[in-house]
Amino acid sequence: MTRLWTVTKCFTFDAAHKLTEHDGKCCILHGHTYKLEITVSGCELAESGSKQGMLIDFGEIKKAVEPLIDTYLDHCFLNDLSVYPTAENLAQWIWKCLAPKLPNLCEVVLWETPDSRVSYSEYASELWVGMPSGLKPVPIGP
Ligand SMILES: [Zn+2]
Repeated sequence: MTRLWTVTKCFTFDAAHKLTEHDGKCCILHGHTYKLEITVSGCELAESGSKQGMLIDFGEIKKAVEPLIDTYLDHCFLNDLSVYPTAENLAQWIWKCLAPKLPNLCEVVLWETPDSRVSYSEYASELWVGMPSGLKPVPIGP
């Protein structure tokens, strides 16, 4: 038996994009109110101090995420980012930006619409030892 806490904080931002290669309506300039869920995980809580009993202060997640949203995402044209702005690519891009600031980052979930979401995670490969090879994620390098 192992224990695990996950702590999630949710954010929203409005942004425009167009998927120029898409064979449907998504190739036309349009916008979404994106919902972003940032999850941190861990198996130990702080034993003392101002964060006693916490895995992470919700405020620390906010401090890491809000500058990213304010600078690059909210009311922005997502095609100006370095990635083709599908929800999948955006979730990965957000992960890359946040991982250095949130060492126990566990999952980035990006809702493009109220019923359409993408999840992105990167795991240390040792977690996958013993998994059937068909379930192993693709290595992405160091
Ligand atoms: Zn769209």
